[in-house]
This record gives sequence, structure tokens and C-alpha cells, in this order.
Amino acid sequence: MADCIFCSIANHDIPTDPIYEDELIIAFNDLEPQAPVHFLVVPKKHIESIDAATEDDSELISHIMLTIPKLAAEQGLENGYRIVINTGDDGGQTVKHLHFHILGKRKMTWPPG
Ligand code: AMP
Ligand code: ZN
Repeated sequence: MADCIFCSIANHDIPTDPIYEDELIIAFNDLEPQAPVHFLVVPKKHIESIDAATEDDSELISHIMLTIPKLAAEQGLENGYRIVINTGDDGGQTVKHLHFHILGKRKMTWPPG
């Protein structure tokens, strides 16, 4: 999708240094990390948010969820981590392309801000 930063990253239209990539997804470190480890897992398909996902995306989302623990292990998050999907304005979503935050290497607090 034109003018979508994560589509541009997924298409390698802008230089990026992925920590993981396959035909369906790309993962890269967040520009403004909120934890010592903070990376994003992004489907290459433009889906505006989890609200816009459909049954057709079931395999893709399953693939993301099953890949996250492997990437977390590679990033040394053996003590645990947090997966965040900010959704819509009240959810704090700023980039309107579905993405999964993975945060770790510090103790997370609850409730979140
Ligand atoms: P959200 O607020 O959940 O939509 O998260 C968007 C995230 O994307 C924020 O944590 C930003 O720091 C991050 N971000 C925005 N642009 C880039 C970029 N070019 N490379 C890496 N992370 C980015
Ligand atoms: Zn996009």
C-alpha cells in the first residue's frame, strides 16, 4: 500500500536490517525501543489492524504467533516477554499496518499505561 511505512519496509523500499524474514513476515527492531529488547513482527500483507483481519488471514496470524517464540528465544528472552498489538486510537496504534510488538529484558508492569 502506498504511503505505508511498514509496507515500504516489507518491500525493502527503504533500507532495513531485519532480524528475521520469510515470504509472509518481516521482523525488525523498533526505532524507539521501549525495553532493552523491542522488535516488531509485521505481516508483508497490508492489514490495517487486527480489526481488519479475516478468516483468510488465519494461517498468516497463526504463523506470526508461532514464529514469535522462536524469535524471542533467538533474542535471549528466556525469562519471558510481552506481546503487544496496539489497536485503533484508544489502543495507541500509530502505524496503521498490523504489527506485533515483542518487548523483553526488563520486568513488565501491569496495568499497562
Ligand atoms: P504502534 O504505536 O503500536 O502503532 O507502534 C508503531 C511502532 O513502530 C512504534 O513503536 C514506532 O517506534 C515504530 N516505528 C515507526 N517507524 C519505524 C521504522 N521506520 N522502523 C522501526 N520502527 C518504527
Ligand atoms: Zn502497509
